[in-house]
Order: sequence, then C-alpha cells, then structure tokens
Amino acid sequence: MGNYLAELDKKYIWHPFTQMSDYLNREPLVIVGGEGSYLIDSDGNRYLDGVSSLWVNVHGHKRPEIDQAIRAQLDKIAHTTMLGLANEPASLLAERLVKIAPGNLSKVFYSDNGSTAMEVAIKIAYQYWVNRGDTKRTRFLSLENAYHGDTIGAVSIGGIDLFHACYRPLLFPAYHAPSPYCYRCPLGKSHPSCGLECLNKAEEILSAHSSEIIAVVAESAVQGAAGMIVMPPGYLKGLEELARKYGVPLILDEVAMGVGRTGTMFACEHEGVKPDIMALAKGITGGYLPLAATLVTREIFDAFVGDMGKTFYHGHSYTGNPLACAAALATLNIFEKENTLEKVNRLSNLLTERLEECKRLEHVGDVRQKGFVAGIELVKDKETKEPYPPELTMGYQVIYRARREGVIIRPLGNVIVVIPPFSFTEEELNRLMDVIILSIRDVTE
Ligand SMILES: *Cc1c(COP(=O)(O)O)cnc(C)c1O
Repeated sequence: MGNYLAELDKKYIWHPFTQMSDYLNREPLVIVGGEGSYLIDSDGNRYLDGVSSLWVNVHGHKRPEIDQAIRAQLDKIAHTTMLGLANEPASLLAERLVKIAPGNLSKVFYSDNGSTAMEVAIKIAYQYWVNRGDTKRTRFLSLENAYHGDTIGAVSIGGIDLFHACYRPLLFPAYHAPSPYCYRCPLGKSHPSCGLECLNKAEEILSAHSSEIIAVVAESAVQGAAGMIVMPPGYLKGLEELARKYGVPLILDEVAMGVGRTGTMFACEHEGVKPDIMALAKGITGGYLPLAATLVTREIFDAFVGDMGKTFYHGHSYTGNPLACAAALATLNIFEKENTLEKVNRLSNLLTERLEECKRLEHVGDVRQKGFVAGIELVKDKETKEPYPPELTMGYQVIYRARREGVIIRPLGNVIVVIPPFSFTEEELNRLMDVIILSIRDVTE
C-alpha cells in the first residue's frame, strides 16, 4: 500500500516550496497517521515531528479533546457561510480571541490561512485611509527578509529575494527597512546597536514619505521564514513607537509566532507591543484545520461603518468555518486547562541548554532562539561566517540524515529549524536535539 501511495504521489502531486526534480529522485515518505509528538509512515515507522508539521501543530497529533470537538461540531453542521449569517463556534471563538488578544483589538475578520490573513490586513489598512478621505497613501513600510505569505499582496510586502524576486514585475511597490539581522547585519553592527540603527533607517523612510505610508508591517519578534531571525531587545517596541509617532497603524504578523510558540500567547507581549491589526493562522486550530483571523481595533473597524461605499468587500467561501473554529476553541481550552504556556517555558529552558552544545559545533555559525523556536545556522567557516554555497544543500542533507534516525525536521536554506509541538516531553526534546547534533556533525565534519 505504501509503495502504491508513493507512486501516486510521484505521478500526480506537485509539492509546495519543492524543486520537483530533487523530490522525484527520492522515495516519498507517506504519512498515514500520527499520535502525540509522532508521525507514522505507511510502513508503520514512527518519526518525531520536530517541525510541528510546518509550524502548525500545537498540542500534538490526535489530541482527544480537539478530535472530539470537531466530531461534535460535525454532528451539528460542517459548514455554513458567514456572508450575512452567524455561526456558533465562530462567535464563541471571536469572543475568546478578543479576550486574550493584546491591546485594543476588538473585531475579528476570519479567513483560511496566513497569507489571506495578511491580504485582509493589507486591504483593511489601505481602505481605512480611503474611507477617511485620504487616498494618497499607497505604500507600506515593511522589512527586508520579511515573509508574510505567498499571495501577491503578501509577496509585495515580503522581502526574501529567493522566494519573491521572480514576481517583482507583478507586485505593488513597498518600502523596506533593514531587517535587524545582527549576525549578517547590512550595517555590520551587533546587538543591540544594530536594532537601533535599523530603527533609525525605518524612521528615515517614515519621515521622508510620511504622507504616503499606509502602515508599518512586521512579523512579531522573529522573522521566521528568513531563518528564525530573532529581533534584538527593544526593536519591536521601537517599531511600535515609530508607527505611533507617524500616526500610522502597526500591523503585526503573528501567523507563525502567535499561539504560544515563544512562551507568551502572542509574541508581541514580550515587549508589551499593541498592534492595531494582528494576523493569526498556523497554530490557531492546533494544526488541525485551515483557519485564520485578522484582528483589528475598534477605531479601524469604525472607519468601515456607514454607507455602502465604506463596506469591506472581501470574503472567502470558507470564512469562519465551524469545524475549524471548534478545533480552535478546543485548542485554547487546552492552553487554559493544562497551563500549556508554563510547560512551553520549561521546555524552552531545556532547549536553551541543548542549543549551547550546538553553538560549539565546528560548522555552526549562529544559534538563535525565542522561546520554543530556534534556528541553527550552518556555515562553511566558523571564523569568517562564510556561508555554504546553496548548491551544497547542507540544510537538506542534515534533515535527510535526521530522517534516518526517525526525526522529521525542515531547513530554511542553511538554517536548521527547531519548532516542536508543545506535546513534547523532555525526553523527546532531548532525543530531537541528540539527533540534530549527530546529523549536523555527520554531514559537516
Ligand atoms: C506561514 C506564514 C505565513 C503564511 O501562512 P500560510 O498559512 O502558509 O499562507 C504568513 N506569515 C508568516 C509569518 C508565516 O510564517
């Protein structure tokens, strides 16, 4: 059966973010089941899910409470539209999200995934100004190395050339401030002055184009897809202060770091930052079903209230899907019932200890961590930080080596990403880190 499924995959599937010529040269791993922190393949082998099924899984696979919540909702109705109709789990979830959200976020606009959550944020921020009679604002200020999703609007404010450069002719222009990537900072500085200088650059753009800027947009606390670039202390707070000073909304993309990943429910809470618009997706359903939410302040919502011309003409077929909202409610219930954030912080401390060992490896140039998320950057030369050339695909070699040990991880270029679900025990985390260290040594030494 496994072979047959692998054949079907090879014959019919086009995989995301994947060079298919490489993929087709390997035997596909077919996942048929999961349990807690483990994935199970078609031959019955078990693998530690060290990447939370691409940053989405939260409380582990096949959590009885979430399974049960979805089944119970299925017995009522699977889907109904939110265009003009309300539904039970969507309303209950919106109330919960507003209660736990930072600052004055008070209205919830649902969609299906992180990219759409950001498209919604982009369009709301633009129309917020239009509805107030200001039609001159057409540019966002976002960051270099930013990743906000793969749809055209999200790519326009993105800043990862490898993913985004090809589409440049199709994109709307945006201003990009330097990414606070101290390790390879374009300004050649180290923490924390790098953060400060990056903020100064952002302010230069804001002051030169103040009547043109719609909003300041950034990932919250960590630039994930760029290789887990952790913002230096004070940077996000500084960005918020700049948005306030120039009177534009702050849009925070919490798609990856929200829902507990960094040890607080939302990553912006570390510095008490209060976004005007906040995007959530990935972990919101515990990694079960596609759902996203864009939260906005009362002030922004109010700009859309009035005559038909002020309407936000945007929506998706599966907006506020009841099954997904039921899964999200069950996910949040577990956080409360089990005090999950406390566990995340305990596990994060163990992760910090194990990352110390990684720092000492001969070909590790940088190790970055925020809570229960880390990036281990492989370099050709530890002294000069000279990177490995991309064609060596060192990241992939390490993850394929780890797979032989029963561990699933994913690289971002030469960065090995560690982002396990919160179902991990200390023993499982130790095993994950043992395998990562072994695999890095095996491939690079
Ligand atoms: C993954 C991600 C997105 C896009 O989410 P999708 O659900 O994959 O569309 C947007 N922003 C950030 C920060 C992400 O990590």
